[in-house]
Parts: sequence; structure tokens; C-alpha cells
Amino acid sequence: MLHERLEPVYDNVVQRNRGETEFHQAVREVLESIGPVIDKHPEYAEQKIIERICEPERQITFRVPWEDDSGEVHINRGFRVEFNSALGPYKGGLRFHPSVYQGIVKFLGFEQIFKNALTGLPIGGGKGGADFDPKGRSDREIMRFCQSFMTELHRHIGEYTDVPAGDIGVGGREVGYLFGQYKRITNRYESGVLTGKHLSFGGARVRTEATGYGCAFFVQEMLAARGESFEGKQVVVSGSGNVAIYTMEKVHQLGGTVVACSDSSGYVHDENGIDVELVKQLKEVERTRISAYVERRPGAKFVADRSVWEVPCQVAMPSATQNELDADDAATLIANGCVAVGEGANMPTTPDAVRSFQEAGVAFGPGKAANAGGVATSALEMQQNASRASWSFEFTEQRLEQIMKDVHARCYATAEEYGMPGNYVAGANINGFTNVADAMLRLGLI
Ligand code: GLU
Repeated sequence: MLHERLEPVYDNVVQRNRGETEFHQAVREVLESIGPVIDKHPEYAEQKIIERICEPERQITFRVPWEDDSGEVHINRGFRVEFNSALGPYKGGLRFHPSVYQGIVKFLGFEQIFKNALTGLPIGGGKGGADFDPKGRSDREIMRFCQSFMTELHRHIGEYTDVPAGDIGVGGREVGYLFGQYKRITNRYESGVLTGKHLSFGGARVRTEATGYGCAFFVQEMLAARGESFEGKQVVVSGSGNVAIYTMEKVHQLGGTVVACSDSSGYVHDENGIDVELVKQLKEVERTRISAYVERRPGAKFVADRSVWEVPCQVAMPSATQNELDADDAATLIANGCVAVGEGANMPTTPDAVRSFQEAGVAFGPGKAANAGGVATSALEMQQNASRASWSFEFTEQRLEQIMKDVHARCYATAEEYGMPGNYVAGANINGFTNVADAMLRLGLI
């Protein structure tokens, strides 16, 4: 339900951003949480803070022309939404996927504002990408695409302006090509302009692992708040990309057993525990389908075109993409005894499914809290770049773990303060929102 003062705000967002359904969904979810804040802080409404937060500071759309290996010319569309810079330079990843359009980039950028605020680090919110499909493309094609993309993007970014990183379809390889082109065009070795870089040119240890590790740490905290742990628990992780891989690795280190993971073609079920090194080999080195897993792992089975959420588990960690876990999946998970859900992806759970989990008393960690470890470690990379330092793996991981404990504590305490104990969605939205809103009030009408 929306607070009556927020209904016209939401209607206006829908009107002004027609057809951008994912963006509407992300805005609605935040507005549903902040009703009690509006009653407590009339100055937010007076200064139209909510309306201002819902309108990006700047949106950039651009042409990305490139040539494939056969010499054919292709045109893609590139985006960067610089959503909010109240707390620091715009910060957020780039997504290369055929589904990318303005509505996806805006939902991601909007979420990023509050996620980044929750980390307690000085980063604003932004997001970008392109409707480019990297699947089946050669390394040289990927390089040419990245170079063309950066040829336009470079004029909009900078270490004090806007600092992109990776997301779906953009990993260490792509960040390398993007940074190379930025350096060449600008003639500046500006390490802090991108994060997720390789260690050899200003990257940070643990950044590759950070989103997944952080999500596992967050779920560990949610379990601990209920007097439980990962020990002996069966865990299902959707996806098999960067977030899923390092979620599985850390869950195993924390005593849980990941019994299934997936990709867009289906899922693998391995009761003995997913062999994470094998998934890394298939997905990061060979860049092939997850179905190849069963050829090398006797006893495991591949199930095509079905939902991974039918595999019984006590902990579910959706780590693939938006709206991948719906109300039917939630019902199945609850019936199978699931007690905790941690979102590794951004908005993977539909609003109905979130409601089902909350009504059933399942601990539900929304992406903007549970997956904040990735962007938080990006902020640590920026810190190292600014001071020309390079921290050890152990030190960086300790920082990450502490940040995730703090994010959990902030969500937990805020939910209690507003009379909704255990509601991490409300806790994350309210805490993230008030951090940004207070800064905006102090910065004046900008
Ligand atoms: N794409 C990641 C996210 O959704 C990381 C962004 C970053 O490191 O800037 O938070």
C-alpha cells in the first residue's frame, strides 16, 4: 500500500516514464516502504525530495557502431543514467545484454542510489549499459565493441564525476578494454575512473569475489539474528555467473552445501555439493553452458527449461537477473522449508513473491542490502586508487565482512525503529532513503 501523499508521486513517475515497467516496480517498492518516514519528516515532502530522487540528474543515450569479424557493421544503443550524486560521484555498473533499454538502466540506477547509501561509503548512484549481446562474440569483437562504447562514454565519466564498473555481460575482460580505451582517448592514467579492474592496472583484491562473498556474509548475519547458521543447510543459487560462483564458494566455506545452480537453459542438481571450480572452468574459462557440468561430474543431473527453485533447500540465493523468482516459486520454496532468501541479483524476486516470503516469516534480504558488497568493494578500490595503495586479500575481505555486518545492522535497527522488526526491505529502503534525503536537504535545491 502507498501512503496517500506518495500515490500522486508514483502516478507521476509512471506517466513520465511510460513503458518502463521495471523502473516503475523499483520505485513503487521504495515508496511503499517510506510512508512512515514521510509522516515523521514533513520537510522531505515540502522540499519535494521524493520527486527529485525519482528523476535522474542526467540521462545519456548514445549510438555504438562496431564491426564484427566478418566486416559487417552493427549499431547498438548505449546508456548511462547518472541518477543521484548527493553522497558522492555516480557509481554503478554497466550491463551488456539484449534486454537492456532505458527502463532497465533506470531501475538499476534507482536501486543503486539506496544500495550505495546503505554501504555508508561516499558514492552516489548510476548505471549504464548497452543492448549488445556478447553471447557467441569473439574476443576481438568484444574489444571493438568496448572501444566504441567508451569512445562516447569517456566524456561523461571521471573519478570525481561518474565511476562505472561491471554488471551482467561486463567482467574483468570488458573493464580492461574499456579502461584501455579511456586511457588512450584522454591521455590520463586515471585509475579511479572505473572499478573492477585487473590487479595489474589498479584493480583491488576481492573485487571479483565481492558481490557473492558479501551476499553470503549478509545471509549469515540474517541467520545469526535467528540463532541459526549455514552449518548443515542446503542452499540453492540461481545463475552461474560472477555473483553465483562466489556466492557458492563462500557458502561452502561457511558450512552450507550448495546443491543446485543454473543458467538460462536449465539447472544442475548435485546433491554432493556443486563443484565450484568446475563451474568456474565452464563459465569463466570455456564460456560454455552449465549443462556441460554433468558430463564431468558423475551423479549430477541437468534439468532443462525448469525453475531451479523446485530443488528443496533451506536457503535460496537468486543471483541471475530481475524477476526470476515469482510467487509460484516462492510457494514451492516455502513448502519445502526455506527459511532465508538473500538476493545476489538486483530485484530477482517479484513483489508478490517478496510478500509471500514475508508473510511466511522467511528472512528476506533484498538486493540493495544483500548484494551491496560488490559496489562497496568498488568504493574500496576507489579508495586504494586515490591513495595509490594496494591492500592484501585478507585485509580487504575483513573490510568487506565488516561492511556487510554494518549493512545488516543498519537494516535491522531501522526496521525495529519503525516498528517492523525483521523487515529487511523496509529497513534497507528507509535507511538508504533517509541518508540520501538528509544530504539533499543540506545541499539545497539542486
Ligand atoms: N553492478 C554491481 C551492482 O549491481 C556493482 C556496481 C559497482 O561496483 O559499481 O551493484
